[in-house]
Amino acid sequence: MNFSFPDDTEILRKELRAFLDVHWSRERRAYSMNDAIARDLATLEPNAAHVTPEEVRKFYRLLGQAGFLAIGMPERYGGTGVNHLARYVLQSELTSVGAPYPNIALTMVAPTLISVGSREFLDEHIPRIIAGEVEYCLGYTEPSAGTDLASLKTRAVREGNGYRINGQKLFSSSAHYADYYFVAVRTDPDAAKHRGISIFLIPMNSPGITINPLITNSGVRTNIVFIDDVWAPASALLGEENKGWTYLGESLAFERYAAMLSLPLVRAYEELVVAVGPDPAPEVASKLALLRADIRAADLLNLNAAWTAHDGRPPIVEAAESKLNITELRHRLARLALELLGSRGLLTELDPDAVAYGQFDLMYRHSVIHLFTAGANDVQRDIIAQSGQGMPRGTTPDVRRVAK
Ligand SMILES: Cc1cc2nc3c(=O)[nH]c(=O)nc-3n(C[C@H](O)[C@H](O)[C@H](O)COP(=O)(O)OP(=O)(O)OC[C@H]3O[C@@H](n4cnc5c(N)ncnc54)[C@H](O)[C@@H]3O)c2cc1C
Repeated sequence: MNFSFPDDTEILRKELRAFLDVHWSRERRAYSMNDAIARDLATLEPNAAHVTPEEVRKFYRLLGQAGFLAIGMPERYGGTGVNHLARYVLQSELTSVGAPYPNIALTMVAPTLISVGSREFLDEHIPRIIAGEVEYCLGYTEPSAGTDLASLKTRAVREGNGYRINGQKLFSSSAHYADYYFVAVRTDPDAAKHRGISIFLIPMNSPGITINPLITNSGVRTNIVFIDDVWAPASALLGEENKGWTYLGESLAFERYAAMLSLPLVRAYEELVVAVGPDPAPEVASKLALLRADIRAADLLNLNAAWTAHDGRPPIVEAAESKLNITELRHRLARLALELLGSRGLLTELDPDAVAYGQFDLMYRHSVIHLFTAGANDVQRDIIAQSGQGMPRGTTPDVRRVAK
């Protein structure tokens, strides 16, 4: 069996590591969390060593100048054309050292634009994404539409040569940094719920948009966004009216495996082994060995999903298997780390005695969120059971039913 990457992808990996050696400092490396998260913590704890919002923007531009954001982009704009493995390596290498990665732009917005956007849309957005100059946030979830996203109520009504939009969104992460809102709204209230949805791309500074912070248990900020009488020209509608659900499904099918990647987990494990020390007690060594085996398996599942996409097949089941494994392992790893490190594991990175820059405590609190974002794990189990194993719908328990 051959697990190696193509030569050009390995060259890219080397170039990325050389780039990170120059542009991403050692202290931040230990901080194996995503950019947006670290940036929010910096604004909440002004003295923290986390990356600042300005540094994130600067880093995106540096990535753009070095040509890394052209990976996967249309050749017409100077991009490489679709290359799922190269994108996978780019995202893995950056996120595993806690470097900023413009996830929403590259993973959600660009693929959907490329798939269904007009020439004007592409001309306006793709060059700026490649240059690292623009940031987006996603407005899907609402107070009564999360996993069951098709129940969303935010309404866009035709008015003259555009639309008037009203509603409320919940958990719009990075809305306070974004330039544009990639927002799902209902354009046909009479159609079946999956059929009346459209996607708009509207500037975040549009009059009528109000962003309120919502701080999660890990200290990470997300937002409640109120959309009051926001005007959007017809040109802000992405693709065709009422086809939004199809667009979301198409892009998600190829991109979900990237929602959680294995390399950051591999790196966090290596840091835990160093923190525990070279001569652990036998029962500790045994727990670490089991975890290592599980992480190796999760790594291979993640690669399998990336290769499936690379082969041109939507990795529906493969991505579900990968996301389920990685997120649950991440939680287990963080819990084991706190168990083994004891009170030392609770020191934050501001404390000189902190272990691995205090990342395991934060990882523990934040890893709970990954169990239900980017597709709740119960739903991933259902996808695996139905699409992977051919079992009937609802085979795996819906916790809401079980709880009743
Ligand atoms: C920190 C954070 C950041 C986020 N960022 C964004 C963002 O940027 N943009 C955005 O649009 N959204 C974002 N979300 C929202 C996220 O995608 C939703 O939380 C997720 O879709 C789950 O929806 P819900 O919270 O309404 O939970 P619910 O849909 O109420 O689900 C709760 C639980 O019920 C179970 N469940 C629900 N439905 C089923 C089912 N059909 N079968 C089996 N079990 C089921 C699952 O265990 C699930 O975890 C974010 C959330 C958080 C916490």
